Amino acid sequence: MIILGIESTAHTIGIGIVDEHGVLANENDTYTPPQGSGIHPREAADHHILVVSSLLNRALDKAGVRLSDIDAVAFSQGPGLGPALRVGATVARFISARFNKPLVPVHHGVAHIEVAKMATGARDPLVLLVSGGHTMVTAYSGGRYRVFGETMDISVGNCLDMFARFLGLPNPGVPHLEECARRGKVMLELPYTVKGQDMSFAGLYTAAVRLVKEGRRVEDVCLSIVNTAYYMLAEVTERALALLGKRELVLAGGVARSPILRGIMETVASEYSVILHVVPPEYAGDNGAMIAWTGLLAYRSGVRVSIEDSVIRQRWRLDEVPIPWLSGG
Ligand code: AMP
Ligand code: MG
Repeated sequence: MIILGIESTAHTIGIGIVDEHGVLANENDTYTPPQGSGIHPREAADHHILVVSSLLNRALDKAGVRLSDIDAVAFSQGPGLGPALRVGATVARFISARFNKPLVPVHHGVAHIEVAKMATGARDPLVLLVSGGHTMVTAYSGGRYRVFGETMDISVGNCLDMFARFLGLPNPGVPHLEECARRGKVMLELPYTVKGQDMSFAGLYTAAVRLVKEGRRVEDVCLSIVNTAYYMLAEVTERALALLGKRELVLAGGVARSPILRGIMETVASEYSVILHVVPPEYAGDNGAMIAWTGLLAYRSGVRVSIEDSVIRQRWRLDEVPIPWLSGG
């Protein structure tokens, strides 16, 4: 069984090709906004349109397959930026119609989780999903991934990226901010906002900007914002581990590449005697392989969508998505 998957929720357009044994191709191209600005949805979409056909050819060459060989085409149906999502959905619909292949809708957040499980061998983990769009602690239970804590406003990646941009650091923001944080010496007080199992990061960004404007040492502010944000994640993760009793912890999404976050989660995992699995870097950020792999799981469970019903879902919540490959239904 060969599945082609298309990712295009935000900054990255990706084409992945997988079979039951693993990934045959994972070709991605990321739009980088001009220095100092965030992602403009229309510009990201223009980028995706420009590169998608060469990306598709490269992926097919790498995998050694033709479009007529694939069994189904999966695409990221949401959540994400409308114009960017529409590029991937349109290409997927074209392949589906032209080659008479079933179309399989995939939720982007579920794909971050499933590719991390596939790549690390985790079976029934608690997942800390920290990507550009998601900040949540989630685990599978009763047919869906349930949310056991999430951000009430912006994602942690977004908070740190915005602050990096404010400092004039290049994209992607988080690794550059962490480099700066390593030169920090003093922890400054910043809003640490955990309410129940939910977190808030918008005020953290605003307060960090204020500290810089007040003339505090930039490296100290970097150290403080990074640590404050990651310790909020650690608290929520710890409580979910204590409540749910899961034996594995998976770190998934683009920010999972952070060695600082990984170090903190290693401590959390060892305190609760759980195994920490961190998604490998090539599957951490948005990528085509995660959509293809989740598409394969979904396709094997009978998930399909007609072209008429394949409209993108910009605000699709993770806990609304049925997960038939785990429920057996
Ligand atoms: P995603 O949407 O999953 O591609 O994740 C994007 C987020 O990952 C952004 O907030 C980036 O700043 C962050 N990111 C990218 N590379 C790294 C890295 N090496 N370490 C930590 N975070 C990263
Ligand atoms: Mg993502």
